[in-house]
Order: sequence, then C-alpha cells, then structure tokens
Amino acid sequence: MDEGWWPKPYKIKVVEPIRLPSPAERERLLAEAGYNVFNLKSEDVYIDLLTDSGTGAMSQAQWAALMEGDEAYAGSRSFALFQETVQEITGYPYVLPTHQGRAAEHVFFAVTVKPGDIVPNNSHFDTTRANLLALGANPLDLPVPEAFDPELPHPFKGNMDLAALKKLLREARERVPFVMLTLTNNTLAGQPVSLANIRAVSETAHAHGVPLILDAARHAENAFFIMEREPGYAGKTPVEIAQEVFALADGCLMSAKKDGLGNIGGFIALRDPELYEKCAEKLILWEGFPTYGGLAGRDLAALAVGLKEALDPLYLRDRVGQVRWLAEELRGIGVPVYWPPGGHAVYVDAARLLPHIPRDQFPGQALVCALYLEGGVRAVEVGSGMLGEAARMELVRLALPRRVYTAEHLRHVVRTFARILEGRERVRGLRLVAGTGPLRHFRARFAPL
Ligand SMILES: *Cc1c(COP(=O)(O)O)cnc(C)c1O
Repeated sequence: MDEGWWPKPYKIKVVEPIRLPSPAERERLLAEAGYNVFNLKSEDVYIDLLTDSGTGAMSQAQWAALMEGDEAYAGSRSFALFQETVQEITGYPYVLPTHQGRAAEHVFFAVTVKPGDIVPNNSHFDTTRANLLALGANPLDLPVPEAFDPELPHPFKGNMDLAALKKLLREARERVPFVMLTLTNNTLAGQPVSLANIRAVSETAHAHGVPLILDAARHAENAFFIMEREPGYAGKTPVEIAQEVFALADGCLMSAKKDGLGNIGGFIALRDPELYEKCAEKLILWEGFPTYGGLAGRDLAALAVGLKEALDPLYLRDRVGQVRWLAEELRGIGVPVYWPPGGHAVYVDAARLLPHIPRDQFPGQALVCALYLEGGVRAVEVGSGMLGEAARMELVRLALPRRVYTAEHLRHVVRTFARILEGRERVRGLRLVAGTGPLRHFRARFAPL
C-alpha cells in the first residue's frame, strides 16, 4: 500500500444525494449569485469544499447520543456530560457552552477587551478579528515570516513570531489584555503550531503577567501534527498532547463545529472563577442559561461524543491524510499548492495559477468561480476579497468536511483543476460591485471583467 493511503476507519450508513448541474445551469446560477459562491444554494453544488465548519458527518455514537439529549433548561444531564468531556481534555474547570465559536468570542471579548487594546495572535480568524474591531481593539497578527513562503517545507508554519511578541509586550504590555494562539492557523493555510512554540509563547506572556487564550477550533488536528512532526511526541496520543497544550494556557475559545465534530456549537473554558462569573452574566444575556448556552441539550450530548472522537488517532490519520492526498495530487498536475498542506484544507496559490489576473481583479475569487463553472466545486477565497488590504497572499481554500467525501469525490476536484489549467488564460478577473467591512466576503457581489 502507498505510504499515506489507508482504508477509512469507518463505512457509510446514510447517504445524501448530490447532483452536478449542467454547464449552462452553472453559468446562470453563478451570475445570479453575483459571482459569490456564498450565495449559491447547496443543492446546486456538486462537491462542497466551502468550509469544514459544521459540515461534518456525525457518527452512529453521536446520533445515538442525540436521542438521549436532556432538554432541561437548567442542570441538564447532557450539559454535565459535555462539561466533563471539556474538563477532561482541557483541564479547565469552568465551561460555558455557546451556540458557535464567534459567540464565545463575543462573550469573552466583551468582558476582557476595551477600546485601544491590542490582541496579538499567530493570525486572527475572520470572526475573531471582526469581534475585536467591533470593540475598538486592534487585532494584531504575529505569524512567523516562514508562513508567507508557500514553498518552504517548514513543519510548523503556524507558529507565532516570538521576537515580535516580546517586543510588543515590552513596549505596550498595559494595552494587551491577553495573548491568543490559533490552533491550527486557519487564516494562514491551516498550518500547525509546535508545542515548543506554544510553550515559549506561554512563558513569554506569563513573564509579563498576561494570560494566554487558545482559539482551539482545530486543536485535535494540531495535536496530530505535533505527534507526527515534533521530536519526542511520536509515542504520545493526541489526547495526551492536547492536554499538554491546554495546560500551557489559561483558557480557550472553541468552535465545536470543527474539532468538536458537531454541526453547531462552541464553548469558553477557563481557569479563572472571576472571569467565568463575568462571562456567565453576558452568556445569560446573549446566549442562554450557562447549562445550555444557545444549544439544545441534544447538541451538547452529541458534542460530548464528538470532542472525544476527534482525538482518535485513526480518525485523525484519515482526516489529515485525506487533505495531504488531495494536496499531493493537485501538486502532481502542476497546481501551485501551499506547502506543506495543513490539517483541514488545501490552499491553492491563485496568484501563481492565474498570473495574468492582477491582485485588484481578485485572482482568488476568479479561481473560485472557475471551479464552480468547470466542475460544480465550491471553494472559498482567502485573499484580497476576504482580507482586503491586509491580504499577503491570494489563496483559495478547499476545505474538506469531516468524514463526508471519498477519494472519488476528490478525484473529481483534481480533474476540475486539470481542465482549468488547460484553459487558464481564458479565466477572467472580477470587480467588486457591493460589499464593505471586515466580513464583506460573505455578502459581496462581483462582476466579471
Ligand atoms: C470557525 C472558526 C471560528 C469561529 O467559529 P464559528 O463556529 O464559525 O462561529 C473561530 N476561530 C477559528 C480558527 C475558526 O476556524
């Protein structure tokens, strides 16, 4: 058997039909969507790689847990199970469920951040950045410079630039309420952060009396990369590595739609009882009572199972292996792919794939449109369209939903890229006709040039 190729550690029990609309239909549907694939109906998409957020397939154990959901307003048994699971993985005693990750950000930032504050991160996710901006704070990205070289085969391109963090804390410590680390670094090609870097960031922050808060959306994938790549960790399990990671921080925010294997959900987990009390007050106002926090009891029950399944080494090998396989296949036919591939998605360098399209004509969005027109494949732009002036690269993200697609589906994606490559000079740029603000990409409309 090829290295990196394993039979899946599960088989299919429930199927969901999908359909490829005709080329003429795809052309019409894309025009109607304003050349923004967020506006397409999912039934008009053949292979949906828009996001890995909440799009995963639940296991039979999760579906069984749903039936046992306790829908009590207060003191639900499902909350107790969820809380125990989060406590066991993170080691943090105080757990507040939220309806998704951005709600955890909203609640936590509202009690910790004031206007003018600076929040450093290896890279802020788009909702994290937008939540901080909405409070008048400055989200500051401090990735290592290696992250901007899409060819460099560095094992941990998600690391934070320690020298830059030290400088910031020396010069402006009183404006930094906490330091964040995003595991894995979604905005920068889903790259992992090493335990050595997490430890160094933790020591640096704590030496200045500043807490470290993890954005733990993909902490399980990050733990798998540490197990695979970091000297001394090959013999540890992902659970043990995750516990070691969380022990270095003071709390976390998590979108459980990623490594919680849930279709909805999130949480805040903390060590500090005072901070917990303040967050609980806001939670009741915005999300719900602290034993359900915007979720149904059945969601909490399914997440209690999913959070554990996501740390299963066989699941993670399949998950990370599938992303790697797609990246290798694409690279094999000459698609410029960010290297090495991350944990949840393949990132294609649209600027190099479509060199005839200047940056102000959104080469990433042009590639996203071409993928839909050629193969009914839906991807997402992570470049000037999403990040505006802050964009350092013009990437297109092919995010793989968890446990959803097989190698046959991904072969269709590879063939779609092959056809785009053949006629790449015919792909045209776009101009932005509507959409403003840091979350404009969700609602933007474009027109072809
Ligand atoms: C998805 C995500 C969030 C936000 O979570 P939602 O559940 O989408 O609200 C925050 N940070 C990272 C790194 C994410 O990937």
